[in-house]
Amino acid sequence: MPQKQRFKFGDYIDYPRGRVVWDCTNSRAIVYIDRCIDKPDVLEKIKEAFCISDYVVEYDDHYRCRRCTGDIFAD
Ligand SMILES: [Zn+2]
Repeated sequence: MPQKQRFKFGDYIDYPRGRVVWDCTNSRAIVYIDRCIDKPDVLEKIKEAFCISDYVVEYDDHYRCRRCTGDIFAD
């Protein structure tokens, strides 16, 4: 398999995640992002992948990795 596999195992909370939604009321995207990956280079890649220019960045409890939650779900 030529494609590099970076995530061999782990639960969803092990990885910083996010979501992009379209705000119809304000005609702009909302980028929900884990604080761990809220960085200019990451946002630039998101902008390119989703072809968005006007957006706001928001945080949500659904997009917090184990590091952000202080490992409260650890065994
Ligand atoms: Zn995080």
